[in-house]
Amino acid sequence: MSKTSEIITCKAAICWGIGKPVTVEEIQVDPPKATEVRVKMLCASICSTDISSTKGFPHTNFPIALGHEGVGIIESVGDQVTNLKEGDVVIPTYIGECQECENCVSEKTNLCMTYPVRWTGLMPDNTSRMSIRGERIYHIFSCATWSEYMVSDANYVLKVDPTIDRAHASFISCGFSTGFGAAWKEAKVESGSTVAVFGLGAVGLGAVIGSKMQGASRIIGIDTNENKRAKGEAFGITDFINPGDSNKSASELVKELSGGMGADYSFECTGVSTLLSESLEATKIGTGKAIVIGVGIEITLPLGLFAILLGRTLKGSVFGGLRAISDLSILADKGHKKEFPLQELFTHEVTLADINKAFELLKQPNCVKVVINMP
Ligand SMILES: [Zn+2]
Ligand SMILES: [Zn+2]
Repeated sequence: MSKTSEIITCKAAICWGIGKPVTVEEIQVDPPKATEVRVKMLCASICSTDISSTKGFPHTNFPIALGHEGVGIIESVGDQVTNLKEGDVVIPTYIGECQECENCVSEKTNLCMTYPVRWTGLMPDNTSRMSIRGERIYHIFSCATWSEYMVSDANYVLKVDPTIDRAHASFISCGFSTGFGAAWKEAKVESGSTVAVFGLGAVGLGAVIGSKMQGASRIIGIDTNENKRAKGEAFGITDFINPGDSNKSASELVKELSGGMGADYSFECTGVSTLLSESLEATKIGTGKAIVIGVGIEITLPLGLFAILLGRTLKGSVFGGLRAISDLSILADKGHKKEFPLQELFTHEVTLADINKAFELLKQPNCVKVVINMP
């Protein structure tokens, strides 16, 4: 029997329903079909969409295998896969890039129409390769990085340098890169710009360093957690605002720091619904642009009429506008060459068996990223 025809029994972190605990279970992972690869995960991390999915957004199908940040090694490939082979080190992605559809050709967006985000939690053929006691398990997007093994369509993985630092590779697979891409690809921040970043978690810190690399001269970091001041400075903020220290709004405080005008660009990285309007209001009238990348669990968000009426632009983004192959490979290379202080993100680690500890650690003020060491 060839390796590709075997079902693997392994451990995975599963969420059983909205508000239900995440449990580590023995599951079955089917072999890859013709265009798919099976990946043995080496290292994973936790990102906010894993948490929001346990609350029913954006995923509503359960049981679901969580984890969309991680890096692994290809265990087997389907017989039509030509660009990847057993032993390749890969980052699973939640968006593909065909380089041929209308959106890919336009180069205006990363939202490929051929390999879109898998909101259903199923493979492109609308099935799953994971099951537990005979019951289907859904993916989080096209991923399941908190599983010892996961299967993905080959168009949803990126091959990286096999010597890349495992934790750092995991960090660049979603949160940090989303922030970086938002400054680089969505806002296209110009040299000399003033930028405001709402929330200095991994996503916000990515937006900070992305803005810095684009040449922003002033980068204002906003966070209610005083611990984030030093983290922000390590990535390149020039000013720190703790809105908890003032009775003024965050947008008023940004304007005070920018000659009353506001920032050229702002990045909403918190997913806190009331900060949508604030992030837009914090930018210049007529030309300011706010990029929304934070994900909360509210489907509709309040927006102040005057915030948007006064000529500002509000732009949403998935994965910071990064194309999953052309752009993410550049980031992986930069990460590998240590062009970002990714080690500053690494604050905690747990084993897969202790996954619930990761959710608790994230509530601590000194926590940025929790690495999950796979067995
Ligand atoms: Zn495409
Ligand atoms: Zn994420």
